[in-house]
Amino acid sequence: MRKTERYEKVIAWFQENMPVAETELHYNNPYELLIAVILSAQCTDKRVNIITPPLYKDFPTPEILAESTPEVVFEYIRSVSYPNNKAKHLVGMAKMLVKDFNSEVPDNMEDLIKLPGVGRKTANVIQSVVFNKAAMAVDTHVFRVSHRIGLVSDSCKTPFSVEKELMKNIPESLVAKAHHWLILHGRYVCQARTPKCDTCGLQMMCKYFCNTYKVAKEAPKAKNK
Ligand code: SF4
Repeated sequence: MRKTERYEKVIAWFQENMPVAETELHYNNPYELLIAVILSAQCTDKRVNIITPPLYKDFPTPEILAESTPEVVFEYIRSVSYPNNKAKHLVGMAKMLVKDFNSEVPDNMEDLIKLPGVGRKTANVIQSVVFNKAAMAVDTHVFRVSHRIGLVSDSCKTPFSVEKELMKNIPESLVAKAHHWLILHGRYVCQARTPKCDTCGLQMMCKYFCNTYKVAKEAPKAKNK
């Protein structure tokens, strides 16, 4: 299948089968989403959603969080992965928001990645979810699912190369939504260890499935010779 055809079919399938696709992180404003996305690195959204309500309640503004210490914040987030580093990042992020950005979450990559704990992936999530920009955040699910379906070539070995390839082929107006399509599909269907291919609606447009099916079909023939 040609790449353009694959993209068209995959996008059409998601549009029909997953018309609503949004982040599963709970938040009420850009500052809270930034906290949640920093906490979600190497951690599940479910776990983050359990710990954020008291954090949001006790540190409702960047100013208040900036006046706290990593030791205090650690107690709120001790059940996430890498709590020591993340506590330092959250306080550092709040200090920088107050000092350099008038306590507002910036809307562009250049400024976002200056914030402690914010890399390219987090910056893309913020740009797309908060500011509605065409930005593709490539996490472990997007990386894996894009490769399996065949949306990106095997030579795309880094998240950034996957991001560029997806951005080149997905219509700008659908980029933000496509990010959620791929994440949710990876989280619930195309899982890392055991993809649920038998119930997946993308079978016939999925490179991994078609290659596996071809191998399975050819194997008995070889044995019968
Ligand atoms: S067919 Fe299997 S490998 Fe392909 S997208 Fe679906 S679950 Fe993933």
